[in-house]
Amino acid sequence: MSRVYNFSAGPSMLPLEVLKKAQEEMLDMGGSGQSVMEMSHRSPEFQAVIDKAEATFREIMNVPDNYKVLFLQGGASTQFAMVPLNLAVSKCADYVTTGQWAKKAFAEAKRFITANEIASSADKTFSYLPEVDKSMLTDGADYVHITYNNTIYGTHFNTMPDFGDRTVVTDMSSCILSEEVDFTKFGLVYAGAQKNMGPAGVTVVVVREDLLGKAQDITPTMLDYETHAKNGSMYNTPPTYGIYICGLVFEWIKNMGGVKVMHEKNVEKANLLYDFLDNSKMFKGTVVPKDRSLMNVPFVTGSDELNAKFVAESKAQGLVNLKGHRTVGGMRASIYNAMPIEGVQALVDFMTKFEKENS
Ligand SMILES: *Cc1c(COP(=O)(O)O)cnc(C)c1O
Repeated sequence: MSRVYNFSAGPSMLPLEVLKKAQEEMLDMGGSGQSVMEMSHRSPEFQAVIDKAEATFREIMNVPDNYKVLFLQGGASTQFAMVPLNLAVSKCADYVTTGQWAKKAFAEAKRFITANEIASSADKTFSYLPEVDKSMLTDGADYVHITYNNTIYGTHFNTMPDFGDRTVVTDMSSCILSEEVDFTKFGLVYAGAQKNMGPAGVTVVVVREDLLGKAQDITPTMLDYETHAKNGSMYNTPPTYGIYICGLVFEWIKNMGGVKVMHEKNVEKANLLYDFLDNSKMFKGTVVPKDRSLMNVPFVTGSDELNAKFVAESKAQGLVNLKGHRTVGGMRASIYNAMPIEGVQALVDFMTKFEKENS
């Protein structure tokens, strides 16, 4: 078996242990004589799967009791509409635009409510995060939305802005489970699974209970958080197999020592790469150091020709999906929880060799 080191931004690597466990249980899940994919979502066997996934997520992420954990569909992109439809009681909210996803969230909100862009880092191709605080919030706005980790540009809120007692909503698609989260600072956190949790098709939403039940009248039933909260994420058929795999990933993290240990490993991995970038004459990181992400690391050589050569040659070495997003150019290494340090070391070794051969 030869598995590559996959640096894709998403869908991305899953832990090998999780894939093996899924393989083991594929034909006969827990003595049921069927795969999870074939089970009725109303069966006690599947109820046990989703209950365990939720319990393990709550445990490893330390989710307070007054927050619901929902397993939804439609990706993080559907949250761009659900958030304003459900939370903007006075039809007004603030947005901080720090990348393509933040811009999409803002644009979608504008379809339903008065959305204000209170800060942006578009002026420097989103290579930093703007300073934001409670003095910038619009009086009477229902919430402020920030994108905690900007997947395309490789920025992350390394300090949580102080928004006072305003409800904060955040998109954690590309950093959920990578670090500890104090949920009491947020009204709602959402994340698509395919970056750091499991397969595409599941979206996890953690929402404070008092925010439920206030959706605008036009909100479709399926887009009302309360529909899913009241029905244990089983108002309709949930993405059963995806939830099962997410559950295995949560367990894997628990067995590794939890999210705190995961974070320490992520710091170690990211430092390895950033230290190399800071000392290289050929490769440069594109983000200001204080806002760097542990998960997504964009870098460039300064020459389109060398970038293309690097992407092609790294692929031949089993280091795949290193091409950067078209709006940044260059390269991007996404090094989520499932990327072992050996993968990052292999990348740094290859970059060292490439720099020697091409300078
Ligand atoms: C990938 C991504 C999205 C879009 O997710 P989908 O599940 O494809 O809708 C939104 N926000 C962030 C931060 C992302 O990384």
